Amino acid sequence: MGECLKCGQCLSSCPVYKTLRDEAFSPRAKVSLSDQGGELYRKRLLQSCLLCGGCQKSCSGGLKTTDLFLEARKRFSRSLPVSKRAALFVFRRPWLDLARAFPLHRLLSPFSRPRGRSPSLSRSQGGERVLLFPGCLSRYLFPEILRSALRLLTSIGYSPVVPPFDCCGFAPLSAGMQERFERLKRTNTQLRERAGGGAVVTLCPTGYHTLTSLYGWGDVFSLPEFLKAHGGGMLETLRADGRRIALHLSCHTQNFHPRANLLEEILRDLPGVDLQVPQERRCCGFGGSFAVSNLELSERIARENIANFDQGAEVITDCPGCALQIGRRRKVSHVAVFLDSLARGFDEL
Ligand code: SF4
Ligand code: SF4
Repeated sequence: MGECLKCGQCLSSCPVYKTLRDEAFSPRAKVSLSDQGGELYRKRLLQSCLLCGGCQKSCSGGLKTTDLFLEARKRFSRSLPVSKRAALFVFRRPWLDLARAFPLHRLLSPFSRPRGRSPSLSRSQGGERVLLFPGCLSRYLFPEILRSALRLLTSIGYSPVVPPFDCCGFAPLSAGMQERFERLKRTNTQLRERAGGGAVVTLCPTGYHTLTSLYGWGDVFSLPEFLKAHGGGMLETLRADGRRIALHLSCHTQNFHPRANLLEEILRDLPGVDLQVPQERRCCGFGGSFAVSNLELSERIARENIANFDQGAEVITDCPGCALQIGRRRKVSHVAVFLDSLARGFDEL
């Protein structure tokens, strides 16, 4: 697994360290404390981590830091903060079903207000089948992301199918709940098999990372990746005349996706677009239950991220979690909604 050389190469990749500038919260401190030190100290340091993978990607010692942190969380899961347990309690299927039935969150988030015409869910008949793994936020809180993805896949001649996949399990795993994660992995694997297997398209970078790296599934694509590879040139027909956009890529795409720059390339190629890519890519500070168990720190990271964007630009992201976090402060759209709006000729999202 490699060893920590104490070189500090990881410091500039860590959103928590960059905000706090405190060596005690650096990745190397977390690595060295992952199997020693007092329980309270371990708990505090281990929980002050977004599991973003930045340190792993930049580690000159070849350390699988996120594996180390997940392992440590499993060992100390009984000392989880109450706020984190509460977040995980809410993030269970019955409560999410309720949230879908009574979408009160829409009153709060400008991001999630329906825009334009009401979308239809028409699908092509007889096109090649492809499975869609929407992720919890697209399935329960932001169904417009799911609807846009369905329309885009249909428009390139596919018949998208959405099996009743459960949570990918990253949230319980990050809380040290290995058994629950294994149950969810088994359930989702069975659902994929029952649906006939084949390619899976994800709308959530954390879902992509979990399915590929932690489940070991093959034939999994992010939506932009699938549209580029199988869209028959559909992306090349889109135009974005006069659109000024800023790209926010999720940490899990930046640090775990093998083609992390693909979305930027796709957006840059849109005729007429004015694309702003922040010089320094930053984390939005969401990190699932991190935003609940580290509210103040999450807010500080979020503020620094927002200050990084050109004020006049529309923010586009590939992650429903980042959209939720950024959407409390700025107009933001998931890339599925953005590309769908271009395909349908809307000027406004
Ligand atoms: S996983 Fe991310 S937040 Fe956690 S220590 Fe590494 S870089 Fe920092
Ligand atoms: S980059 Fe890797 S080896 Fe260097 S200090 Fe960070 S964790 Fe240790």
